[in-house]
Amino acid sequence: MNAATVLSGEPVAAAVLEQVRVAMGLLAFTPNLVVVRVGEDPASVSYVKTKANRAKKLGMRSSVIALPAEASEAELLEVVRALAVDADVHGILVQLPFPPGSSIRKSAVLAAIPAHKDVDGLTEVSVGRLWSDEPGLAPCTPSGVISLLDHYNIPILGKRAVIVGRSALVGKPLAALLLRRHATVTLAHSRTRPLADVTREADILVAATGKAGLITPEMVKPGATVIDVGINRVDGRIVGDVDPTVAGVAGALTPVPGGVGLLTVAHLLLNTVLAAALPRA
Ligand code: NAP
Repeated sequence: MNAATVLSGEPVAAAVLEQVRVAMGLLAFTPNLVVVRVGEDPASVSYVKTKANRAKKLGMRSSVIALPAEASEAELLEVVRALAVDADVHGILVQLPFPPGSSIRKSAVLAAIPAHKDVDGLTEVSVGRLWSDEPGLAPCTPSGVISLLDHYNIPILGKRAVIVGRSALVGKPLAALLLRRHATVTLAHSRTRPLADVTREADILVAATGKAGLITPEMVKPGATVIDVGINRVDGRIVGDVDPTVAGVAGALTPVPGGVGLLTVAHLLLNTVLAAALPRA
């Protein structure tokens, strides 16, 4: 059996970053992204550093505000509200999740981020706009999946798309974006029974569960495009939610690492330049 085409995220990320460069060239000022982090979780520290460094590499202004793990909701809100009214700040990203045991409510913090600075696309206003087909900033990883499909000319219109995973970060916003592009969309999750019957219907199958190797060959329609959003650490290695043997059945498959993961930060920077250009609303 032929092995699936590998859908590398590298050329897609390069193309998105080129869009960012071009858009920055059209602005009369340099976009400014501020990332707020609470606590010292090593993964969060590393993600935040990557985001800020990539922004700087492109010539954007970027800074990190780090609060201690024991910071209160009021302290965090004071920081976010100051950024919200600072005309020199174009994008605000509050790194989630908060440290275990923190009493900070995600909903309260997101509510303090104005939609025109919501580069993560996670506030209620951004989510409402996404589902209402109104212009706004969409979450970065789902936007990356759409960029990847478009880059490789994989048709979406009229196709059956199945997303395994219904999180607010990935599954749900991706469903909205695929629906907007006229796919027939199914969201599957941990209670879907039998999961394989649903996934086998997919022309485009997206795995976003955080369960290493969950998607196996018998769950995939021959020739389907399989997008692996999962990032799981197993025995010191990074692996996806899709078992590598799926390459024997799928028509095309994203690698992990080197697939969708590269696109999240690229779309964060695209959202930042879009935020800088957006009317204040
Ligand atoms: P999450 O919030 O934990 O959501 C996981 C989803 O998967 C839930 O909807 C859950 O169902 C579903 N699920 C879990 N086990 C399942 C099973 N056995 N069968 C079917 N569905 C199952 O995770 P997330 O934030 O969406 O992230 C998902 C994965 O993507 C993680 O590996 C994460 O690291 C990765 N990720 C990657 C990027 C990137 O840049 N590439 C960005 C974000 C996330 P229920 O709702 O029923 O619990």
